[in-house]
Amino acid sequence: IQNRLVNAVNSQRIQAWYQPIIEASTGACSGVEVLARWHDDELGWIGPATFIPIAESIGLIRELGQQVWLASLTAAESWQRQGLALSIAVNVSKRQLFKPYFTEQLLEEVSKHHISPGSIILEVTESVALMDVEHAAERLQELKEAGFRIAIDDFGTGYSSLSQLHEMHVDELKIDISFVRRLNDPRGLSMTQAIINLARALNLKTVAEGVEDEESAARLRELGVDYLQGYHFARPMPREDFERWLAQHNKH
Ligand code: C2E
Ligand code: CA
Ligand code: CA
Repeated sequence: IQNRLVNAVNSQRIQAWYQPIIEASTGACSGVEVLARWHDDELGWIGPATFIPIAESIGLIRELGQQVWLASLTAAESWQRQGLALSIAVNVSKRQLFKPYFTEQLLEEVSKHHISPGSIILEVTESVALMDVEHAAERLQELKEAGFRIAIDDFGTGYSSLSQLHEMHVDELKIDISFVRRLNDPRGLSMTQAIINLARALNLKTVAEGVEDEESAARLRELGVDYLQGYHFARPMPREDFERWLAQHNKH
């Protein structure tokens, strides 16, 4: 897999797919999360949960991340030209975050595509944001000052303290899928409510991922979550499919 992945990255065969993010109060599609996809001629589809860690461990993640990022900027530029206001959420690995001149590079690339940094959400997992707190906080602050929005991904699975969260200057918490799975259980429900209340107290938006049915969506709306994402609304899709989905969705 490793050798084949190197080949796929070198020949630019990693694709960017898009999953809609829905505003809970209106049902409108407010943006997308960009997710890497890889199809190998012999092995078939290989999921990012498999190939992203490999790419990280063999020093390929920056190049891979760059391809996904540039594809999403091209898409975002075209959507903007069509008058579609969509925010673009991109996953950022540890090595990308700590790359020298990362902020400067991102700024240069968004400006080349006539995109405002405010329409980009950089998703950093809770564990990365807290691994090297001072260093990460500094970098996140720098990105934020440059105008990018920051989301803490997989929130609730790491061990952030309230004071760390307060110092992080982020914009959103993405509630981990494991909480959404436990909405039927009263204790699971209280945990999700607690995260939403915490986010409110800190003036942060919340996104719930992994919403697979209307019942969960309704619960989350009642709890006051701001954005919903999951198979109930749409799966991640190639760009053309997403554009078709969006045109259909916007009609309703
Ligand atoms: P993540 O950032 O937490 O992304 C959310 C994952 O949940 C995605 O898995 C998405 O397809 C999946 N998902 C969305 N809705 C549902 C649902 O209703 N039910 C279920 N069961 N799953 C749902 P995916 O695409 O397999 O990505 C896995 C992980 O790989 C991502 O987790 C992210 O950490 C990483 N990843 C994906 N693309 C990239 C990338 O371009 N760069 C980096 N650094 N990491 C990436
Ligand atoms: Ca994510
Ligand atoms: Ca997540």
